[in-house]
Amino acid sequence: VETVRAGLQRWVVGRRIKSVAVAGERTLRRHVAGADDFVARLTGRRFAAARRRGKYLWLPLDDGTSLLAHLGMSGQFLAVPANAAAGKHLRARWTFDDDGPELRFHDQRTFGGLALAELVEADGTLVPSTIAHIARDPMDPGFDPDRAVRALRSRRTEVKRALLDQTLVSGIGNIYADEALWRARLHGTRPVERLTRAQGTVLLASATEVMAEALRAGGTSFDSLYVNINGQSGYFERSLNVYGRGDRPCRRCGTPIRREPFMNRSSYFCPRCQPKPRSSR
Ligand SMILES: [Zn+2]
Repeated sequence: VETVRAGLQRWVVGRRIKSVAVAGERTLRRHVAGADDFVARLTGRRFAAARRRGKYLWLPLDDGTSLLAHLGMSGQFLAVPANAAAGKHLRARWTFDDDGPELRFHDQRTFGGLALAELVEADGTLVPSTIAHIARDPMDPGFDPDRAVRALRSRRTEVKRALLDQTLVSGIGNIYADEALWRARLHGTRPVERLTRAQGTVLLASATEVMAEALRAGGTSFDSLYVNINGQSGYFERSLNVYGRGDRPCRRCGTPIRREPFMNRSSYFCPRCQPKPRSSR
């Protein structure tokens, strides 16, 4: 998502919107005032910045509101020449009052969404009101690791569930949680109250490393491995150490990686490097 944010910053910030077209109601399901309101309020506005928190992206406008986007599993922003053919999964397009490229939002599976939201102050910065509860992510310059470790350790849950809780730390999905736990040599079912502060610090540092490497590899910093502004696919998955490597040797100790069901998905771990806590269910 950070890759997408940087692309939006480069391609659309500072430009004034000439027209907006929306196809498909599902994409606007979180904009309760409907498509006509969405179009009317965006037309003539200028994108002032491109921001991100967790899996959310938003573009503050010059009237104190913002265009908020969630990419879901398959949402993509593209900057394309105005005469480019409309793709099959085109959900929204913006033209500008200059000769530059259009902005388009494609979404094959329509899990993503767009909405307009007022900006409110939260955690010392302006964020869309509807996501003010989402915590900063480790790639955010304002991220406070000590505070995040304290928040993490204050919960009564398992460590992987805490990592995925977007109100504690945002931006860590199932894949990155497994990679971070492998690096920190922790099993996901360990209760967080039994995590030392040092272990919590190592775990968050590991998550930050995983996200930074994904970003350098051209993927997104988050769970979807496929999206960037030009629609190219990321290749971060090649460098995964544990996720998706069931029965293959651990890259550290050679023990076969184990897969277990986890909340309708899977958890991957090395049974030797990441021993299960003894009292675990
Ligand atoms: Zn191992």
